[in-house]
This record gives sequence, C-alpha cells and structure tokens, in this order.
Amino acid sequence: MKKVVKFGGSSLASAEQFKKVGDIIRSDEARRYVVPSAPGKRFDGDIKVTDMLYECYRAAEKGEKIAGKIKKIQARYQEIIDGLGLDLKLDEQFAEIEKNFIAQAGSDYAASRGEFLNGIVMANYLGYTFVDPAECIFFEDNGNLDGEMTYKKLAERLGGIDHAVIPGFYGSLHDGSVKTFSRGGSDVTGSIVAKAIHADLYENWTDVSGMLVTDPRIVDNPAVIETITYKELRELAYMGATVLHEDAIFPLRQEGIPINIRNTNRPQDKGTVIVESTCYKPAYTITGIAGRKGFASINIEKDMMNSEIGFGRKVLQVFEDNGLSFEHMPSGIDTLTVYVHQSEFEEKEQNIISGLHRAVAPDAIDLEADLALIAVVGRGMRRNRGTAGRIFSALAHKHVNVKMIDQGSSELNIIIGVENRDFETAIRAIYDIFVTAQL
Ligand code: ASP
Repeated sequence: MKKVVKFGGSSLASAEQFKKVGDIIRSDEARRYVVPSAPGKRFDGDIKVTDMLYECYRAAEKGEKIAGKIKKIQARYQEIIDGLGLDLKLDEQFAEIEKNFIAQAGSDYAASRGEFLNGIVMANYLGYTFVDPAECIFFEDNGNLDGEMTYKKLAERLGGIDHAVIPGFYGSLHDGSVKTFSRGGSDVTGSIVAKAIHADLYENWTDVSGMLVTDPRIVDNPAVIETITYKELRELAYMGATVLHEDAIFPLRQEGIPINIRNTNRPQDKGTVIVESTCYKPAYTITGIAGRKGFASINIEKDMMNSEIGFGRKVLQVFEDNGLSFEHMPSGIDTLTVYVHQSEFEEKEQNIISGLHRAVAPDAIDLEADLALIAVVGRGMRRNRGTAGRIFSALAHKHVNVKMIDQGSSELNIIIGVENRDFETAIRAIYDIFVTAQL
C-alpha cells in the first residue's frame, strides 16, 4: 500500500505542527511519500514564508539590501529546527539563496525556496530521502506541465526509494530554471506524485476536517461532506467552494486515485473522500451548497421568438463578440435571459445592448443587477423525488423570491438565482431543510 501525503502550510508552520505531522506519518507505514508546503501562518496576522520570499525578492529586484529580510526568513526555519531538536544547519542554503536573489534568479525561484527548505527540514526530521522536484517535475515554455517527461522521470526517481520527501509547488523549465505552479500549487505536486507512483490514496492534510456542506461564514458549524465525486466537487468549486487547487483533480481523475482531505489538528476525523464514482449513499440528499453574488441578467423579449431559427445563436454571438462568457441562459416562449458576471458586464453594457438590437431586433431588453446564483449539488438528487419541491418551499417560507431556476439534465445540480440581499437567507434555508432537519 502506497500513500502520498501532502501537508499544507498551516500544518507545517511551527515545530509543534511538525510534530503532529511526524506522528501522523509514523502512525501508518503506507505514508511513504511526503509533499510539504512552505511554513504558513502560525497565528492570525502572521506572514506565510512564501509571501516573505516574494517580498524579499521584490526588494532584491529594486536593488535594496536584503540581508535583514533573509535573516527573518531563516529565523522561521531555525525556530522549527530548534523546536524539533534537529542537528541541521541551513546557513549554506541561505547564503546561496541570498546570492541568487541578488543575481535576480526570478520570482518563481524565490517563492520555491520556501518548499525547498521545508523539504530539507522534513526529510531530516523523518529520516526520509530528499528528492528535489527541479530534477523530476518539468514544465513546457508556455507554463503547462510536461506530463510525459514528468511522469517518466518521477517514476524512475521514486521507483527505487521507499520513503521520500518531495517539496511541493515547483519544478523546472527545460532550460533548468525553476518554475512554480500557481499559488496553492503544492496540492498539484501531491497529485502528480500520486499518479506517477500509482498511489492507492492521496491524503491532503490541511486545517479543516474536510469539505463542508456549505460556507461556515453563512451557516454555523456546517456538516462535513463524507464522500464527494470529482464531478460534484467541480460544480461546487466553480461556485466558489474550494478545498483543493483546481489543477490537482485532473491527474488523479485520469488514474481513478481517491483523495482524502484530512485535518492535521484533528487526525481522528475521517475528513472528506473525493472519488470518481461511488455506491456509497450520501448522508443527505444534497452533497453541498455553494454560491456567488454579483451577477446581472439581460432579459430579451420578442414576440414569436420561438419560431425564429437561429435566435439564440445570434444573441450569444453578441456576447462572444464582446468577449463575455455567459453563465446561464433560461428561456421562455417569447423571452430569453442571459446571466453574466456583473463586473465584466458593466463596462460592456451599452455595446451589448446595441449589439442585441442590431442582431435580433427585440421588442424589449430589460436589465437586472445584484443577483446571486446558488448551486445545490448532489448525486443523491437523481434518486430522490421532490428535491426541487423541498428547496422551493423552504425558500418561499423564508420569503425569498426566486428569480431563476436551472436544472441540468444530469440531475446533479439545481441552480437558483436570487437577489444578492437574499443570498445568505436562501443558503441557510436550503441547508436547514436538507441537513438540520435530518440531524
Ligand atoms: N507555498 C505556496 C503558496 O503559499 C504553495 C502552497 O502552499 O501550496 O501558495
């Protein structure tokens, strides 16, 4: 059994956190490939090492003195090394980093040092082999992962190693210079390593006990989602619910490797398992609720619109010509409404209105702003009758006026449009009817 275990910055922010991580790894011998992030925040208002590095590099670019900033970063690591009682010095590495910063080695190089150094500390602490991803994760010049070369090299390099630490977040371009993923990219490294070694499981350790049914800023203490499919996750992530870097899903999905989101501070919690497909029945009819504010709708009316072939295409062409993507397009007999992001729409509003007049000569165009979209997602909806009925009676009960309803034919989600000001009330009402009522 092989597990890849990735630990986020908050799990590695201090010696105390490192010890929890050490206990977790030692408690399961399958946890053989460890992907650490850089040390994160130790307390509210603290600065992540990655941000300190970016800041320090900006100063170096401006030709400012950076010795003091470098010292502060080194102190973060020294605090961990001392707290763990390790016999390890990073003076040489820091001297080299300072030299390379002054020589303007690039901001990707700068940011990557957070993971690089934490990898050295972690490998020393665990007695695992340190593997530098600059030697086995490769990017094309356009910034995309060079999958073919990466999986080959990673499998070769890790094939002969039983226990390894592979720092997250970076690799290298073909010319040897360091390149990082986008922020939060250690998640992606973990999933690439899991795919390369054909892991049985990818554990992603963070500071929450899994993915929550809804936003804890709206509902107090929401339930944890036990199992979620990649597809459901995608729907919820699109609506703003994030638990994992978006690009971390793809490599695992291709291999059917499950992901388990776990909490370093509560290892007894089972967390959330993300899978391709499952017979496991969700605890509630719905898996999750997510949403966003800030949409606008453009309502187009024209008598006999329905019999005008090509009407919808001409409408959408206007949006395309203005470089605007649409979110939803519910239609009636003589009406068609297009939902867009308000901030993107505002600057193009008048061009779109005139474009629509030229393209389809509507009887009327009506705009509405300050709308929110809520996605109620769940593979369990297909099996259960009356889900939509329950949602809408809960909303009516709380006096929420529903502006739009869109249910995909996959029956995986129902999208509801409401006014921004009803957003939180609507989410609470839906949560209560499906989760609280069932507890
Ligand atoms: N340390 C990097 C960041 O702060 C990458 C990561 O933590 O995944 O974005």
